[in-house]
Amino acid sequence: MTFNVRFGPAGNPLGYRGKTTKVCDYIKKIGLDAYEYQATYGVRISKKSGVELGENAKKNDVLISMHAPYYINLCSNKNDVIERSIDRLVQSARASEWMNAYRIVFHPGFYTEYSPNEAREKMFNTIRELIEKIERLGIKKYTFAPETTGKKSQYGNLEEIIDLCQSFENFAPTVDFGHLHARSNGNIRNREDYEKIFNKIDSELGLQTLHCHFTKVEFSDAGERRHHTLLEEDFGPPLEPLLELVVDCGWDVTFISETPLLDEDALIMKVRYENISGKA
Ligand SMILES: [Zn+2]
Repeated sequence: MTFNVRFGPAGNPLGYRGKTTKVCDYIKKIGLDAYEYQATYGVRISKKSGVELGENAKKNDVLISMHAPYYINLCSNKNDVIERSIDRLVQSARASEWMNAYRIVFHPGFYTEYSPNEAREKMFNTIRELIEKIERLGIKKYTFAPETTGKKSQYGNLEEIIDLCQSFENFAPTVDFGHLHARSNGNIRNREDYEKIFNKIDSELGLQTLHCHFTKVEFSDAGERRHHTLLEEDFGPPLEPLLELVVDCGWDVTFISETPLLDEDALIMKVRYENISGKA
């Protein structure tokens, strides 16, 4: 197998009690090869720790991504919210450079009272401002990865995420399959449903690389309600047809497990992938 399919947890593994700067020693030891650093409530890592984390990841051949803070709304109707959101993404870009994170995942925002088109205009203006600021600060190596979102009130269906990535350099998509499933009322059922997503990314962005989040998800009419573990059979989307497609299509795919069991479920995903690909 020459292409690169990786698996890892969103945040520190459940059983890990050590320093985050050394977490990739543990990730590798348990058999995983990706890690998404979580800056959920703010970017608090120092330059020294960021660099250490990056070096530790490199030593262990673990691919690092970073999840930017959750409180971000790039199409808010409030200027102070826009300013704070820009600041959080600037801090994320700087920290991603320290740790050599290959993606900065973020949730773009909420429509609030805006129509999707109005929200898009706001969003685009804010991103132009964000990029100007990043360039002024001399931050060079960063890739923002806006994520498909799980609630219908959130900006970020697949089309909107692709549109963002077509419109700005240094942007690449994060596809959260649980979120797409939730916001489409459970519409991801089989291989064809996954193929449609992959084909769209290929034809509209020319990419055969994908950063993705996976979890089983419970949803209501408004979209995502909560995450469930991989072995809870009552919830979708199904994992097997996705893994089969990934085995056959040869894309570079990084799977970040966002189930309540993080690393344990990432390992189950990896074992199932290896069984399908005949590697095991
Ligand atoms: Zn996600």
